[in-house]
Amino acid sequence: MQFRDLKAQYQVLKPEIDAGIQKVIDSSAFILGKTVMELEEKLAAYVGRKHCITCGNGTDALQLALMVWGIGFGDAVFTSDFTYFASAGAGSILGATPIFVDIDLNTFNMDPVALEVQIKRVFAEGKLTPKAVIPVDLFGQPADYDRILPIAEKFGLKVLEDGAQGFGGNIRGKKACSFGELSTTSFFPAKPLGCYGDGGAVFTDDDEIDARLRSLRAQGKSPLDKYDNREIGMNSRLDTLQAAILLPKFKAFVEYEIDAVNRVAEWYTDRLKDYFVTPAVLDGFYSSWAQYTILLHDKEARDAMQRKLKGKSIPSMIYYPRGLHQQEAYKELGLEDSLYTNTVEAAMRCLSLPMHPYLKEAEVDMICKALLER
Ligand SMILES: *Cc1c(COP(=O)(O)O)cnc(C)c1O
Repeated sequence: MQFRDLKAQYQVLKPEIDAGIQKVIDSSAFILGKTVMELEEKLAAYVGRKHCITCGNGTDALQLALMVWGIGFGDAVFTSDFTYFASAGAGSILGATPIFVDIDLNTFNMDPVALEVQIKRVFAEGKLTPKAVIPVDLFGQPADYDRILPIAEKFGLKVLEDGAQGFGGNIRGKKACSFGELSTTSFFPAKPLGCYGDGGAVFTDDDEIDARLRSLRAQGKSPLDKYDNREIGMNSRLDTLQAAILLPKFKAFVEYEIDAVNRVAEWYTDRLKDYFVTPAVLDGFYSSWAQYTILLHDKEARDAMQRKLKGKSIPSMIYYPRGLHQQEAYKELGLEDSLYTNTVEAAMRCLSLPMHPYLKEAEVDMICKALLER
């Protein structure tokens, strides 16, 4: 059994994927071009935004978004404490200081109440300039934008949605990657919409920001002349081959994969909800189920369960084993566990189970049986 079965997906989509790859090779046009533009247009239309700017990976997408806003030294950027490192690292590399926000243990997403407390604290301290909030759509569920957006607005902060895991989710029909003034996603193979290597994208409705992002992903070039460099940028593009792989995968994603993962999540929840803390999806929210993560009683029970599953060849993962405030890279910030009790709790008790659109009900039965057996 696979944690995320990319081979099963490839077997279904092989003719289209192989033909797409061959076409790119036959054309010898490996950088950008029509295939990338077609993908950008389709993704923008799907999430309901004017522009999609693809780039090298989800981390670069976050960095490009922060660069276009000029965020750097002396600026504070608020993000969830319980997320992949890139949500914070992308700002740190530009010199900004991440301010970690504790999570809501029900959804694993940023707690809006804790966000407001942290914003007020940073303003009161007066050392950093609060600039932006990066809510993360963790495990596929959009962050609580109903409550986060008004807080950001009240304090004059920009919102950058980290939709690396959220692509395909929605809130009352409004799609993930449409909630931030800028939104980003990742096409890392294991993400809800993954390619066969690295890839990412930024979404915006602003024509000028779109033009600058296209420039920033290519060494700050002018639109007409590649050797006329207007500002310091990155070299971060989505390979044409990856775009060709993403086109048929995106079609399958929209047509049935997103429904399929929601069905799998239901199978899990039906079988497990009386015995474990199963993931809560807020009313009106729809998840793309990047992960299906349960909470066990404590760290000991979690670690024992993971060992037991492993003994039965059932893969499971610990997303995430520590909060960002506990990372060595951020130890100079000197942050105490007591400020992040929910993150610390989640890191000790979480266990992510196999999740992908090609998982069968019989396999979910088998996994749940293993989880429930004494
Ligand atoms: C995967 C991920 C990223 C980074 O994406 P890459 O394509 O791996 O650079 C950023 N944020 C979150 C929440 C992620 O899960």
